[in-house]
Amino acid sequence: MPPSSRAVCALVSGGLDSAALLHRLLAAGRRVAPLYLRCGFGWEPAELSWLRRVLRALRCPRLAPLRIVELPLRSVYGPHWSLTGRGVPGAATGDAAVYLPGRNVLLVAHAAVACAPRRISAIALGLLKGNPFGDASPQCLRLMSRCLTLALGRPIRVLVPLRRFTKAQLIRRAASVPLALTFSCLRPVGRRHCGRCNKCAERQKAFLRAQIADPTRYASRKKGTGSALSNSRGSRAQSVRHVSRCETTGRKVSDTCCGRPGSFSTEQTGSISSGGHRWKK
Ligand SMILES: [Zn+2]
Repeated sequence: MPPSSRAVCALVSGGLDSAALLHRLLAAGRRVAPLYLRCGFGWEPAELSWLRRVLRALRCPRLAPLRIVELPLRSVYGPHWSLTGRGVPGAATGDAAVYLPGRNVLLVAHAAVACAPRRISAIALGLLKGNPFGDASPQCLRLMSRCLTLALGRPIRVLVPLRRFTKAQLIRRAASVPLALTFSCLRPVGRRHCGRCNKCAERQKAFLRAQIADPTRYASRKKGTGSALSNSRGSRAQSVRHVSRCETTGRKVSDTCCGRPGSFSTEQTGSISSGGHRWKK
């Protein structure tokens, strides 16, 4: 991918936030370089497997191959549950239980340095509305941007284009994102969601709030969080899968893409659309 002011590094995991972030950046006509930082967390093998599927589904000439940078945190985090798998926060825990100390600081700093040789000056994160953590706050991200600009001697911008959306809103508004291929679980069973951890519960609640059938296959599921929508809204669930289409060619993104800048984008007019699904701004 040649250097470009329209190029952006997208910090990605396997979650639906990351898939929506990639989709939105591509829809805006950006050249996107996805970056995954491998820290040693227990869920990473499963997460990477699903992330690769998402990237295949979103395939586009403006989407660069996934880059993986090693960022081992064992010496920093010590016997943290994210590394040991012991005491993983369960479904009844709150946001504070899954805080990974300073993670956004580490991610953004590494991304900025890793992208410097390619002269990519924009780093995008899939942070959502209501994120309670200090290192996700607008003030912290602004200061990180200024700090990295000073440190690297060139402008570095930190973008959070999903900041206005909750997870449920994201699910409702980004139906052309391959949500069924996304993954966010703290204690996967093989490649499947466990169905009982904090992140699985968050995912289940978001689909329920969005009134969209949850296409996820959970290894187990707590009573009361069942997929009641699966039967009544099954057809809607199918629409979640693999339906991104290029506005210019009308062809599936996963099949091909014309690659013309802005071909997925009507950003200037206040919305982004793809295959009939709109992002309201
Ligand atoms: Zn889980």
